[in-house]
Amino acid sequence: MINRFTERLARWQKFHGRHDLPWQSHGVYETWISEIMLQQTQVKVVIPYYKQFIVRFPDVQTLANAPLDDVLSHWAGLGYYSRARNLHKTAQIIVENYEGKIPKNLDKLKELPGIGRSTAGAILSLGFGLRGVIQDGNVKRLLARLFAITGDLSKSKAQNDLWSLADSLTPQEGEACRSHTQGMMDLGSIICRRIRPDCPICPFQNDCLAFQQNSIAKFPAPKQANKRQDELWVVLQIVNQADETLFIKRPAKGIWGGLYAPPIGPSLKELGNDMNLNAVAEAEFIGDIAHAFSHFKVRLEHYRLKIGEDHVRASGEWQMAQLFQKGIPAPIQKLLDKDSA
Ligand code: SF4
Repeated sequence: MINRFTERLARWQKFHGRHDLPWQSHGVYETWISEIMLQQTQVKVVIPYYKQFIVRFPDVQTLANAPLDDVLSHWAGLGYYSRARNLHKTAQIIVENYEGKIPKNLDKLKELPGIGRSTAGAILSLGFGLRGVIQDGNVKRLLARLFAITGDLSKSKAQNDLWSLADSLTPQEGEACRSHTQGMMDLGSIICRRIRPDCPICPFQNDCLAFQQNSIAKFPAPKQANKRQDELWVVLQIVNQADETLFIKRPAKGIWGGLYAPPIGPSLKELGNDMNLNAVAEAEFIGDIAHAFSHFKVRLEHYRLKIGEDHVRASGEWQMAQLFQKGIPAPIQKLLDKDSA
């Protein structure tokens, strides 16, 4: 094990780590919200969303009482919407089962929707100042390089090795654990970056096996990609005589689950068949944009069809596109804005 790892990391964090993130030094609720937002999303992207979210939902009770649509509309643009649905569900469970107080216990935290072992560890250490072990993407990369862990890190053998290393490096005492957790996160994201890590100023350069073996590029080993083919999605904006657009709530499960959008399908013809709408052939092409999800890309083609409401059998909400207040996926909003610009 690396000599005096905890003390060295704590000293580095004190002088070089991050101390002014908007969720730091507040409370456990703020830690929980930020940790969920930071899953799969960079700090600089999260900050403005986090600030707006906390103003609208300042505590567990407010979040639990809010309509899901309201929560989703504050999440629109952050992606991975199941995180927002789980946040809302978890707030309701906390109010119902824990008198509105986030549990201070690893097993109880892990039972809550959207909270895995690492998020629970971060809530315990950063939020409560208790012992908690974390293992987010940045920390995995850091440990893989420090200890030259080979193989796909998503496989269970590597996962077990990483958790056991993370556990043995984490101090027992709560307050020390808080700065340790922050230090691991900061070192992983500021210094041991995925691309071009800043090894010359890394406090563990002399201990890092990947650096010593001159093989940083090998760690972590690339994940076996599960790539989905690029796709074309047709977005059919149906507009009634009052210039209102039809917004349909998307199924809870799947991409953009629970958000609102005009009908989306693989082609105009299929959309027309699904909606029993022959007039679809008269839809006018407005424009297109490209959008990248984490594992595939789509081209969104925007069509508009002006038609009487009584010809449309799909159920949804009719509203002027610019005035619609519920959560719309960011790329769809971009398409609609582009049209009205
Ligand atoms: Fe990462 Fe370089 Fe430090 Fe190793 S020496 S932990 S590769 S920044």
